[in-house]
Amino acid sequence: MNETKKFRLAVIPGDGIGKEVVREGLRVLDHLAEESNGRFAFESDFFPWGCEYYLENGSMMDENGVEKLKDYDAIYFGAVGFPGVPDHISLWGLRIAICQGLDQWANIRPVEFLPGIPRRLNHPDVDSLNWVLIRENSEGEYSGVGGRNFSGRGPGKEVAVQSSLFTEHGCERIIRYAFDLARTRKRKKVTSVTKSNAQQYGMVLWDEVFVRVSKDYPDVETDQWLVDAMAAQFVLHPEELEVVVASNLFADILSDLGSALSGSLGIAASANLNPEGRNPSMFESVHGSAPDIAGKGIANPIGTIGSASLMLDHLGLTDESKRLDTAIEDTTRQGVLTRDLGGTYSTVQITDAIIKNLSEVK
Ligand code: ATP
Ligand code: MG
Repeated sequence: MNETKKFRLAVIPGDGIGKEVVREGLRVLDHLAEESNGRFAFESDFFPWGCEYYLENGSMMDENGVEKLKDYDAIYFGAVGFPGVPDHISLWGLRIAICQGLDQWANIRPVEFLPGIPRRLNHPDVDSLNWVLIRENSEGEYSGVGGRNFSGRGPGKEVAVQSSLFTEHGCERIIRYAFDLARTRKRKKVTSVTKSNAQQYGMVLWDEVFVRVSKDYPDVETDQWLVDAMAAQFVLHPEELEVVVASNLFADILSDLGSALSGSLGIAASANLNPEGRNPSMFESVHGSAPDIAGKGIANPIGTIGSASLMLDHLGLTDESKRLDTAIEDTTRQGVLTRDLGGTYSTVQITDAIIKNLSEVK
């Protein structure tokens, strides 16, 4: 018998429902490993980083936390943020620190319309809609350039500056990633989203790079949109969307819109990739820690389980990833839904149903 392929996972459950949904994702992964009959296995190390850790230690993660993650095959992440810790501290102290520290510059966010879910979108082809949002994940509006108290004029007169930083290298690699991905899809099309009529430096650079790179992909259809018009397009003509590439902030906003349209924030999966494979990539749902429903056992685990599917695909377990996607679709089709989708099932029951369906999809 061949040797078992071992994948080392760094697991960061984080805060709120992050802990609840990551536990479910790991149950699914363990099930798949078990039924692989020794073909592969997961070895998980847990990192208790997040807001509780911050309240005890004054930082969101260990001082050399990013270094500690470097040797893993992948990172599985819950969510961060909790009342009592300002969001910019929790986000910058952990999630952004990891994404930037490990150069996970491509954030992939598929928008999929699962069966059996109440439709918020009145569209004749709603069942067959799906597109992928590619978010630039290393610079742009989240570059951290700026500061407070620029006027030096004291209380009531403060001036704060928050700059965006766009590099030609950063724009080019994410735009190329989008074109390469488009080539793997049935309809080969990339839509670029900026606001270059109002943001005349960085976003104009992005537009120029987009036009230049597109010349290397004559087989791929392109279009370019302003972000405000694109928000309307998501609702009015989503059938026109295939691969959508946008800056850090714009894609962040558009992905919440996409996931809400497809049913709930709770079902959206994402991957933060270091496409060169020098560092591990990180897999997490799009939603946050949802303090309003934390601890109740009602969080939808599908976004986090779907992120596990993206992780399987990334680790080369493509058949398992496809089977998991099918098992998730079967589960929603059967009407096994959490409250955010109008159902009554608990977090644990959704996972149980997905695992049961997995045993039936071979
Ligand atoms: P962040 O700042 O981390 O993005 P947020 O303020 O956008 O967080 P979320 O935690 O994403 O907030 O939650 C937004 C809303 O969506 C809340 O009402 C929450 O209960 C709901 N929600 C988020 N995730 C889920 C989930 N997995 N299942 C059910 N409801 C969810
Ligand atoms: Mg949010």
